[in-house]
Order: sequence, then structure tokens, then C-alpha cells
Amino acid sequence: MSMSEQERARRRRESRRRAANRDIVALAVLVLAVVIAVVSVSCAVGNANGSEDSEPSRATKRTTTTTSASETTTTSESTTSTTTTTTTSGSTTTTTTTAKPSNGGEHYVQPAGGAWNLMLVNDWNTMPQEMVDSIKLEVVNSSVTNGSVDARIVEPLKRMVADCRKAGGNIWAQSMFRPYDTQKRLYNNEVARWVKKGYSQADAEVKAATIVKRPGQSEHNTGLAVDFNNCDSSFTGTVAYNWLVEHCAEYGFILRFPKGKEDITGVIFESWHYRYVGVEAATEIMRDGITLEEYCQRHGV
Ligand SMILES: [Zn+2]
Repeated sequence: MSMSEQERARRRRESRRRAANRDIVALAVLVLAVVIAVVSVSCAVGNANGSEDSEPSRATKRTTTTTSASETTTTSESTTSTTTTTTTSGSTTTTTTTAKPSNGGEHYVQPAGGAWNLMLVNDWNTMPQEMVDSIKLEVVNSSVTNGSVDARIVEPLKRMVADCRKAGGNIWAQSMFRPYDTQKRLYNNEVARWVKKGYSQADAEVKAATIVKRPGQSEHNTGLAVDFNNCDSSFTGTVAYNWLVEHCAEYGFILRFPKGKEDITGVIFESWHYRYVGVEAATEIMRDGITLEEYCQRHGV
């Protein structure tokens, strides 16, 4: 091989090496762009979907001042022990609103007059105050402020808790029915907090709803929801949690806000929050890994 042939070969190798380097850089840029996109999307989801259990003392820890948190907590605890005794009829109606979810799809709006145990209450399905106020309640834990549930679910709830304990689970029902007026006060306090920070009334209302549900839009207004133990993510992975996920449907309960369904429920994953829907619906929901929203849509109820 002549000198110039060697030189040409060397240049070809050099050129290939440079091309390979360019490919590596391009790939790295692409990977970085994908990572940034994924992170942005998760943050957006996190912002759009609030906690159903926004006792402000917990949910606003990150952003609120100590003063406003304690104000709202006091408000909550001073009013939530009220128990009403009016009876309800066997069926329920919900007033409905339409809204576009953050993913651009359409949220299911439940038709009026459905079964009480399947009542859908979320950002897009509002329970009227008179209905919340007329639930027949029964106390299941007298040592906490929100210690009542709809009288119709007391028996399965107690049975489920007892059986979970027999299986080695450390579990107690901590937070259940929350009156409409309490929800309203908590929500209004949260709105006021954002107005004080400089938000317009309309923007403050939207922002507040990602932290505290609007009155009539919290499942805790139904008397059919139960938060266990510390009402936070420390419940995830415990013996009690694992047992509940496996067995709650046998008692008519579901894990109401599962992971990965945030855009459908409008609520972050809450391992501690369970909802009574009856054995039939619960069995299908837990078996198929779907939400109450998806179940209602699937059956048109
Ligand atoms: Zn809850």
C-alpha cells in the first residue's frame, strides 16, 4: 500500500469515527429530550390531580403557612362530629357537570337515579347538599372526628376490619363521613388562601380544587368512603394494605384511587382510601383493575 493509499484509508477511518460520534451525540440529545418530556408530563399530572383526602393540614404542608393550615384543621375538627339521622330513599340522584379532563378526553357523567352504592362523586359529578345532609349515619369510631359512615355499610366495614386484623393487619378506620358544610368551609378557606397570594377568584377556585375538593365533590361527603390508619402513603405495602387489596371486594369495597388512573379519577394514588360499592361491582372492579368511573361507564350506570 502506497503512502497516499494509507493516508486515504486513515482519513476514511477518521471520517467513520466522526460520524459515529455524531450519532452518539444525537442519540444522547434525543434521550435527554424524552426524559424532559416525561418529567414534564408527570408534573402536569401531579398538579392536575389533587388528593381526595385533603385535610388541609396534610395536603398543603408543602405550600401553606403554619397559620392557615392550623386554621383550616381547627375548622374541620370543630364541625365534623355532627351526625344527622334523617333517612334517605333507596335511590340517589346526582347533579352533573361536564368538563374536559387534562388528557383531552371526556369524563363520564353519571345519569341521575342510579343505585346508592354506585353513586359517582368526583370533579365532574356533584352530590347535592340536600342529599349529603340527609344520609343516615352511624358512628363506627367514636374517638375520631369523622367517625361515621352511611348506616348501610357499617356491617361489612366492621367485618372487613375484623377479618383483616385476624390476618395480622394493623388497621383502624380513621376518617369517614365529612359534612357538606365542612367541605364547603375547607374549600373556601383554600380559595381564600390563593386569593391572598394574588390569584384571581376564578384561578384561585381552580387551584384550590386540586388540593381540597369542592363541596359535594369529595367522596367523604357520601358516607361510603373510609380512610384507614394515618390516611397517608405510609399505609402502602403494609400487611393490612396487601390484605385489603386482595380481599376488600369480598366485603363490597374497592381501592378507590389506584395508581395509574389519576386522569380518570382526578385524584392521586391513595392506598388508604376505600369506597363501598357492593360486592358485585367491587368484584369486577378489583378483578379488572378498573376504577368506579370506568365501571359506571362500562355498564351505563
Ligand atoms: Zn379518603
